[in-house]
Amino acid sequence: MLRVNSFSFVRPFRWLGGAVLALLPLAASGAEIPASKASVIPPFEVAKLGPGTWVGRFGISNCGWVELGSGVLVVDTGASNQDAANLQSEIKRSTSGKPVKWVVVSHLHGHANSGLPAFLATGATVYVHASIAADTEAALTHMASGGKVPKVVGVKQSVVVSEGGQTVEVLAPKGAASTGVDLWIFSSEAKAAFVADLVVTGRCPSMTDGQSDPLGWVAELHRIAEKKPSVIVGSTGDTSTAVAAELAATSAYLERVYRIAKETKEKGLPEARVSSQLSAIEKVGEYCSTKADILNGLAIYRRLGKDGKLRKGPEPPAPGGVKP
Ligand SMILES: [Zn+2]
Repeated sequence: MLRVNSFSFVRPFRWLGGAVLALLPLAASGAEIPASKASVIPPFEVAKLGPGTWVGRFGISNCGWVELGSGVLVVDTGASNQDAANLQSEIKRSTSGKPVKWVVVSHLHGHANSGLPAFLATGATVYVHASIAADTEAALTHMASGGKVPKVVGVKQSVVVSEGGQTVEVLAPKGAASTGVDLWIFSSEAKAAFVADLVVTGRCPSMTDGQSDPLGWVAELHRIAEKKPSVIVGSTGDTSTAVAAELAATSAYLERVYRIAKETKEKGLPEARVSSQLSAIEKVGEYCSTKADILNGLAIYRRLGKDGKLRKGPEPPAPGGVKP
């Protein structure tokens, strides 16, 4: 699959109104795609990962779907209405028209789930992190304006969906990881892990979400490893079968940035020194652009208190400057 790593294309959520569910923008995490190259990228690409399990890149983000007995479980809904429409069309084609009965919202970035409204009319059950279940239900009820309201299920640790010999586990970290509301799924037949922003294959992840917790994140990567996936799919980047290496590289990177930011803070050095500390102490080569590396280091440094604990980042701006 084509590599599309730039988060500069992140768009705001349009389907949620509550402050908790407002847009959570990400700073650029990788090289931007020049316009001349972007124009030749097809709108979507799809591959089958194993029994009843597919992955597709729609626009800038990866989505997945698993065919169970009576319907289809979808992981994320795309960054736009068009991406959602393409995703729905591919689901229909690959599963002989089975209905979407379950939708997993892996996290609240617009690049992954602005397409959710397109999936609500079917009355699918929507899985979100337990901490936002009530707000999500309220927002979706408001959107339905008297029509069919989807069932919202908050995931605390894990929920299993099993039908027709296929089992999908929806898992939530104990606390914050990449964001404060991550979910990931494991499809047992294909041994595929769809891990949202927890891993960007082949390169460093973005740590700029105001709720990210590098240590909780590393713990969740261990939990993913325990499932022994054969293939791993992040929200962006290529699908990878080098699962152990990807998890190890991401863990090492997260620990490095956290440690350097913490040491810089503990030494009483100003944030202007984060950049030199990162490059002087441990270089990361092509795994991470200098720009993304510094953004990650600064994001963590700025949230670290004198007690060494991470504070939550500032509330993200509302889409288009309009208060939700
Ligand atoms: Zn994201």
